[in-house]
Amino acid sequence: MKIICIGRNYIDHAKELNNPVPQEPVFFMKPDTALLLKNQPFFYPEFSSDIHFETELVVRIKKVGKHIQEKFANTYYDELAVGIDFTARDLQQKCKEKGLPWEIAKGFDHAAPLSKFVPKTEFQNVQNINLRLDKNGKTVQQGNTKEMLFSVDQIIAYISQFVTLKIGDLIFTGTPAGVGPIAIGDRLEAYLDDKPLLKVDVK
Ligand code: ZN
Repeated sequence: MKIICIGRNYIDHAKELNNPVPQEPVFFMKPDTALLLKNQPFFYPEFSSDIHFETELVVRIKKVGKHIQEKFANTYYDELAVGIDFTARDLQQKCKEKGLPWEIAKGFDHAAPLSKFVPKTEFQNVQNINLRLDKNGKTVQQGNTKEMLFSVDQIIAYISQFVTLKIGDLIFTGTPAGVGPIAIGDRLEAYLDDKPLLKVDVK
């Protein structure tokens, strides 16, 4: 199983980090050891002092595919979840300055909290789902999947040109604007529309 993440998929988020708006999807991977399941707590690691939340729609691939056409991409997933792409912004900044890969900032243990999955049929339109993150009971991040630069189907078509998608692979589809830091003692709660799906206590 692999975790593929899309970067800069919402214009306002690309702008808030002073990144250019991409012409093609940007993707990177996290190892399976990054998963944090079942609302388990996240232990703030000592190698960073600036970990940010990025709240994202996640899709789970249900059949093997390569060179998937966009018009068939919707048949490759039936389940959605909400995930957090934890990012060590201080380490990422150093990588960016040196033109190095981001894995150290994105792929560390438990950098991918993930909720349970919900059938996509519970949503009218995958490209019109509200994403929301509350921190300590206050909404800190909000967006809608209609604001994606590249739709879920376009992302699947694009990735599968390069990487074979297999059953159980996860795609984190990018974060809207409003990313911010976490601190020990915080409680994060993430929603798809009004469904509270994910809770993470930072310890
Ligand atoms: Zn992200």
